Amino acid sequence: MDFLSCIEQGYFIRVLNDPAPRVAHRFCGEQHISGAWCQNCEKPLLKYLTIDHRDPVVHALCRAAPLHLLYCWTCTVPEDYFQYRAGDDSVEILRYVEGACYRSPRYEEFPYRRYPRYFPEQVVELVPLSSDEQSFIKKCNREYIGYWWGNKPHHLDYLYGPMHQLGGEPWMANPLYDNFYGWAVKCAACGNDMPFLASFDNDATDGMVFTENSTVQMLYFYCKNCAVVAAIPQID
Ligand SMILES: [Zn+2]
Ligand SMILES: [Zn+2]
Repeated sequence: MDFLSCIEQGYFIRVLNDPAPRVAHRFCGEQHISGAWCQNCEKPLLKYLTIDHRDPVVHALCRAAPLHLLYCWTCTVPEDYFQYRAGDDSVEILRYVEGACYRSPRYEEFPYRRYPRYFPEQVVELVPLSSDEQSFIKKCNREYIGYWWGNKPHHLDYLYGPMHQLGGEPWMANPLYDNFYGWAVKCAACGNDMPFLASFDNDATDGMVFTENSTVQMLYFYCKNCAVVAAIPQID
């Protein structure tokens, strides 16, 4: 089965050191978006990324508003798909696992002690993957190739493992397509397959991490017709 992606061309999401960027995609940071609240934890959802709709690269994807990629790590939300509808600077949560908040000492403060309410914001840019880089990732996903590739180093070994990426096909801890089961991610509003939108590795900003497990990959999917975002973490 073919990989479904919101944007055919893939882009690495990388730190941008430009004080006055033309467009500003923002990785992490505090958010005050209406409805972007975790009912379990009674705190704002954690923001992974705000996609700046003014960037021509994402023009076909976004409506006339920034698209926010949100999540919560400190409760039962990671136990299943998390889905919400994106509005203009508001969100409506459609699907989440209702349950305990793990920030209390009773749960040993999962995922780790003194988990921040948000990570400091960092402006990022989208750097296109070359066709060699994209083919290498596709090969890894389909053939379960490790970075030990034939016991000799390969010049694209740096692509093995989760990365911050928008569009294209990311390296996947667990490929979500299968000849027997089809595509795994369905939109909570219309039931259609949801194309891939973004992948993140475990590194947040300022040397901090999203979870204690460095192999955790966060995946986002997007149904453009319904403006519904889905998020699910994967573990290698
Ligand atoms: Zn929560
Ligand atoms: Zn839909």
